[in-house]
Amino acid sequence: MSSAATQLAVSLDGTPTVPGTLYIGGQWRSASGHRAVLNPADAREIGQVDEASAADVEAAVAAARAAFDAGEWSSTSPAERSAILGRVADLLQANRAQIARIETLDTGKTLRESEIDVDDVTSVFRYYAALALGEPGRLVDAGNPAVISRVVYEPVGVCALIGPWNYPLLQISWKIAPALAAGCTAVLKPSEVTPLTTIVLVGLLEDAGVPAGVVNLLLGSGAVAGAGLVESEDVDLVSFTGGLNTGRSIMRTAADTVKKVALELGGKNPHIVFADADREAALDAALTGVFLHAGQVCSAGTRLILEDSIHDDFVAELVRRAELIRIGDGLSEETEMPPLVSAQHLAKVEDHVRIGLEEGAKLLTGGARLSDDQTGYFYRPTVFVNCTGVMRIVQEETFGPIVTVERFSSEDEAVRLGNDTRYGLAGGVWTSDRGKAHRVSRRLRHGTIWINDFGPYLPQAEWGGFKLSGTGRELGPSGLAEYREAKHVYENTEPAAQHWFSG
Ligand code: NAD
Repeated sequence: MSSAATQLAVSLDGTPTVPGTLYIGGQWRSASGHRAVLNPADAREIGQVDEASAADVEAAVAAARAAFDAGEWSSTSPAERSAILGRVADLLQANRAQIARIETLDTGKTLRESEIDVDDVTSVFRYYAALALGEPGRLVDAGNPAVISRVVYEPVGVCALIGPWNYPLLQISWKIAPALAAGCTAVLKPSEVTPLTTIVLVGLLEDAGVPAGVVNLLLGSGAVAGAGLVESEDVDLVSFTGGLNTGRSIMRTAADTVKKVALELGGKNPHIVFADADREAALDAALTGVFLHAGQVCSAGTRLILEDSIHDDFVAELVRRAELIRIGDGLSEETEMPPLVSAQHLAKVEDHVRIGLEEGAKLLTGGARLSDDQTGYFYRPTVFVNCTGVMRIVQEETFGPIVTVERFSSEDEAVRLGNDTRYGLAGGVWTSDRGKAHRVSRRLRHGTIWINDFGPYLPQAEWGGFKLSGTGRELGPSGLAEYREAKHVYENTEPAAQHWFSG
């Protein structure tokens, strides 16, 4: 690893992190302000990182702009860009254990999940390393043999890539890998709550041979670092993953400079189980669908929608198993469900549960912290029944280990409930009737539908939301297309005057 990334990793084994964690124009830099990073499992400070000022934002954008305008990166051969992305994938694997440990300390998530994240991110870099090699352009028929008409694809330019705290390494990688493959330059802005693995990733990009200025790193608040990037006239595209209200604000601000905007926002994802489903597999998926990473997953199956005839039995078993989930520090091998990310987020989840109770949802288990004297931000798996679509707890994203259960008696009703949300990120359908599965999946208005499964995604398949869940797509060929502009080049090989005007 590069010096800054190594220093960071070493410091996490005991001493506070040294500043020098902004990366601008190929230099690791300190800022005048710092921010403490806390471990969600015990609320202890695990390090300090730099906090970017408005001047740092300007410097980072200027570095990315200069690097883009110099054309060095965009004019490297696709093979060279592909080789660099492949080296990043190798470096991620070579440092897998250390990166996973840092992600767990920073986000709280279980070590097993952090390791899976590193592997997934590796696949994403490998996928875009391969896609970078594809021929970006096509000939079109101009209807005139003297004309050669080509559509070519060029990099969009300077990209601001803004990430959330729940999958810091993963979400920023879904953006930077295709952006680099396309020939763009970028400024990365991870969540201020979980900045650490992005610092490491930038170190790996540097070590893999990404030239100075092509990737820049800002750490700090949404109000200064995030908004500064969105406002900048020198940024051509913002790709954002985060909450709905932040996404709205970014879209509004971006209108002033008419920059391209890609938004990956929240979800309130239906998980529909028909009576003819494989009970054991569906139960297992219902549990992981919502309690994995303590429900802090944009595609979590937070709305369980059960057919009447299996409702009582399914719920009883769900509650029994939810109560067996082992909650603890993500670094412990025993732990199945980690803490929430912060005290602020714990308070938000508690507030949402209170709202659910006031609305008349019936709490069957959970609805409380792990213990009154806990130092970390633990919350128990929580199951609400008697839920309906008018309740806020069914409509608004909680982003915690909370599942609401609704019931249906017909296929039409299942579809209606599945679409009864302003979000449209993901949904699941369980049934042994393949015809029914396909009918229902066609009618559900969500960007991803799982049939007899819940949660997997593939680097080669598009990911993104319908409705309030966002605009644009990540992953797959569309994930690369976001970072490219189409340009039509029309060449007349036999120019002749047309004499449209008489004079
Ligand atoms: P958030 O919106 O609070 O913050 C996300 C990022 O935006 C952070 O880096 C933050 O600093 C920055 N930011 C805040 N205000 C800003 C502004 N005015 N201008 C520019 N940037 C600003 O989101 P979060 O709480 O970190 O993440 C959780 C949310 O992310 C959930 O809603 C979740 O559903 C969503 N999410 C969606 C996906 C997806 O693929 N659709 C994936 C992961 C998370």
